[in-house]
Parts: sequence; structure tokens; C-alpha cells
Amino acid sequence: MRYCSNCGKEIFDDAVVCPMCGSMQEKTEQKPVKDKMNIAWFIISLAWWWVGIILYFAFRKSNPQKAKVCISGTIAAFVATIIICIFLGICSMLGIVI
Ligand SMILES: [Zn+2]
Repeated sequence: MRYCSNCGKEIFDDAVVCPMCGSMQEKTEQKPVKDKMNIAWFIISLAWWWVGIILYFAFRKSNPQKAKVCISGTIAAFVATIIICIFLGICSMLGIVI
């Protein structure tokens, strides 16, 4: 819930017009900002996997969606590391010097 910018009465988050006084409400475009933030958190977790784990436990209760993004970044970092290790392992077995 949020409050009317004109009369201060409690109105629905997606209300365009205040049902109490009829004044136009400014649109709250929070979703695109949220998505951008999630990508930022994902990249941070991808770059520093341990930060992703810390953020996961930090946001687990207050913001489960953000926690999920952080831990998925950590998982992606682990998967990438494993793939690189396997790739390097195969190369060394085949005697290829990188
Ligand atoms: Zn109002």
C-alpha cells in the first residue's frame, strides 16, 4: 500500500486515480529498476561467488527473490569454473599447451 499524494489517504499500489479525492497519482515504475538491480546482483555474485553466498543468507528472509538471484549467480560461477577445469584437464591430457 502507498499513500495519495494529494489527500494522504491509503490507496492501492497500482491505483492511477485516488478513490478518496480523485487526484491523479504518479506512476510508480519500480519493476524495471528492480530487474536492473537483479542483473547487477547476479553479475556481482558471478564475479565474486563468496559475495553471492553472503548476500543469499543476508537477503534470504527479507528479500527471497534477491537471495535467489545472488545464489544463482554463485551457481553460475561454479558451473563456469568446473567447465573451465574440465576443458583445461582435457587439453593437458591431450598434450595441448595453452
Ligand atoms: Zn487522495
